[in-house]
Amino acid sequence: MEKLSIYNIAFKGLKEGNHVFEYHIGNAFFEHFENSLVDEADADVQITLEKRSLFMALGIKLKGTVRLACDRCLEWYDQPIHQKARLFIKFGENESEPGDDVIWLHPDDFQINVAQIIYEYICLSVPLKHVHPSDEEGKNSCNPEMLKKIEEYSRQQDEKRDMRWDQLNNLLNNK
Ligand SMILES: [Zn+2]
Repeated sequence: MEKLSIYNIAFKGLKEGNHVFEYHIGNAFFEHFENSLVDEADADVQITLEKRSLFMALGIKLKGTVRLACDRCLEWYDQPIHQKARLFIKFGENESEPGDDVIWLHPDDFQINVAQIIYEYICLSVPLKHVHPSDEEGKNSCNPEMLKKIEEYSRQQDEKRDMRWDQLNNLLNNK
């Protein structure tokens, strides 16, 4: 299991300017997060720490794929993801300005761990609907064999239900 300490960025000793950190996110990353929405991924993340005299900001760029189970054909597929954001880093004992684009740190903090931020942005980039992406011709790339089997299964379930309804109707009508 990889250590999350590799995601620590010690900003205190950095010079003013932009500092770029690159990470590759693989499956081991998600072992640190309980009940993770994502277990498997192959993504590159670029974190840019912008250190200025009056403020600090964190740029995040992520691109890659996450492995999801398709809601339609139930097979695994690689969902492309990408995300770009810029967050301001502020210092304070209390979070005085709530906001999605602000990271609050304690005034004594000298480093920031970006693992949780990366994790949240990966989860954010997962679409609500998990479906195989369309191919170049706009055709759905679901496994046709699986679709056929699922259709067959649901048809059988319908037939069973109909049969039960018929039996119930017979019972009611014969009383
Ligand atoms: Zn599918």
